[in-house]
Amino acid sequence: MDLIKTLGSLVDDALLVIGHDLVITNANPASIRLLGDKVIGTNLNDVIIYSGLAEELAACLDSQKPVEFTATPTNNHYRHIRARMMIWGEDTLIVLLLDMTLQHNLEKMRRDFVANVSHELRSPLTSLIGFVETMQNSPDMELGDRQRFLNIMDEEAKRMSRLINDLMSLSKVEVDEHIVPESKVFVKSLLMATINVLSNRALKTGHDIRFHDHREQKVTEPVIRGGNDEIMEVFQNLLDNALKYSFPASIIRVEMHDYANGRLAINIINRGEGITEKHIPRLTERFYRVDKGRSRQMGGTGLGLAIVKHIINKHRGELKITSALNKETVFSVILPYATD
Ligand code: ADP
Repeated sequence: MDLIKTLGSLVDDALLVIGHDLVITNANPASIRLLGDKVIGTNLNDVIIYSGLAEELAACLDSQKPVEFTATPTNNHYRHIRARMMIWGEDTLIVLLLDMTLQHNLEKMRRDFVANVSHELRSPLTSLIGFVETMQNSPDMELGDRQRFLNIMDEEAKRMSRLINDLMSLSKVEVDEHIVPESKVFVKSLLMATINVLSNRALKTGHDIRFHDHREQKVTEPVIRGGNDEIMEVFQNLLDNALKYSFPASIIRVEMHDYANGRLAINIINRGEGITEKHIPRLTERFYRVDKGRSRQMGGTGLGLAIVKHIINKHRGELKITSALNKETVFSVILPYATD
């Protein structure tokens, strides 16, 4: 019985047998998936990139103990491999290659996220500290200046508060993203309520939010399974963005349609500068903004669409975004109708 064949079919990771000359003499199917189909007969140096391979081999032969190192496959520089090598028999060694790409990327995302959060909190905090110090050192400050400073401080404190609220929403939905909420959500009533909540703001900016129901069964209330508060958060975030990024005093359309495969589509449509194609796939990443200054000025946190995406995923739905420069922007939320 070929031990490598048996072992190799038991594990999902790549397993190679190499000679002391580093030439690969046997490989399991996972190795082919990771390193390409010309593995057997090739030198290990040609399928992975690691400059210290000869030294690792010497250390392994010398100590008779396993050695471990990290490398990159020659055919794909974006993958990260953790390699373990040990002697097996007279003149052969076994090499186990663990694909660590997912863990590596998750770890990088976590580090980037912490760095981003710190940065986002630091700027309003620095500004707040600066104004507090200025006011402490200027006991005779004029009333007008004092009021102006207090207004800025109020705005910065609110910015921090919004950011923390959004972070909490994001972490809450991420924790139970795999649990599909079960209660009934009456979508039309919820949409009307959300529009109502935002109507004062729309009035101030001269926006007109118009609702259209294009479903076949208009008389019935569309029902989905979900969490009322979470679905409301989706509509609120999307309508809030429509108000922020559209031309002042323009029309915002909220439309409901029947969609393929027993689903309901809610489209939120606005006219503004639009979004260039290259940005669209990245909009739901945390802290991704097309124009950071504009988002800041509008009181954005850069987390709204990330929250929206997670809530929709949790409801087994889909978010589609279509836009182009100087064209209409459409955010479509597609959710399965409740079947009972
Ligand atoms: P923000 O707090 O910056 O609004 P979001 O996650 O809600 O964060 O949105 C991310 C980015 O997507 C925004 O900064 C903006 O550049 C873009 N965006 C979102 N909605 C729209 C829209 N309706 N029209 C144009 N751009 C939008």
